[in-house]
Amino acid sequence: MKIQNKIPIGGFHKQSLIDYPGNISAVIFTCGCNFSCNYCHNPQLIDSDLKDQSNQLSEDEILEWISQNSQMLDAVVITGGEPTLHSSLPRFIQKIKQFGIKLKLDTNGTNPNMLEKLIADGLVDYVAMDIKAPLSLLKYRKVVGDKIDDPLLQKVMQSVKILNRKLIDCEFRTTADESLSVNDFIAIAGEISGKYYIQHRTDRNNVSIKTAKIENLKEIKAKMPANLNLFLRG
Ligand code: SF4
Repeated sequence: MKIQNKIPIGGFHKQSLIDYPGNISAVIFTCGCNFSCNYCHNPQLIDSDLKDQSNQLSEDEILEWISQNSQMLDAVVITGGEPTLHSSLPRFIQKIKQFGIKLKLDTNGTNPNMLEKLIADGLVDYVAMDIKAPLSLLKYRKVVGDKIDDPLLQKVMQSVKILNRKLIDCEFRTTADESLSVNDFIAIAGEISGKYYIQHRTDRNNVSIKTAKIENLKEIKAKMPANLNLFLRG
């Protein structure tokens, strides 16, 4: 996948009340992802041909809109795809932050170096990191497909450690994929601290497919570490 200097943007929602809880946010969807989750709601973004920008919005158009409407916004959310695939993300965020609004980043955790730098430079106010499965290659592959290898999983682990330091407001979240058991959720919980959201798995038409595992929420909650606040979303 060729990563370009300007971030290829596959979607833009001008206002949302749900993507950054408690905030009115604009949501930017970047193209390209290094995972291939079977429940992905934005599959058209995963393998976007980054050379073909004919149907993409430009950074400049979006920045212009934000600059003219920043008084209507508390925040901008950057999601994907996987935003941290793009080396120009920090530069883009810097431009957004000049408008004096908050920034939330959604990430799958595969670029810990960029994540750490964004936090150190004060460019993000909130991070939501997907933790797709217990941190083993076998379990992760069942959810994200075989694009992940050991070095990439190590990067996910590094991102977990960075967010566990609680230098920034953040959450971990797991979609209740059917491959996950109660013990898997408990294993994930053992790796993280702070806020943990379990999200209903939905199909691509946003129809909820509840799994037996998520209905065992009480059992999961009872076995969670005390330092974790568990939430159910969706
Ligand atoms: S990490 Fe997110 S964007 Fe990428 S394939 Fe999985 S659900 Fe889709």
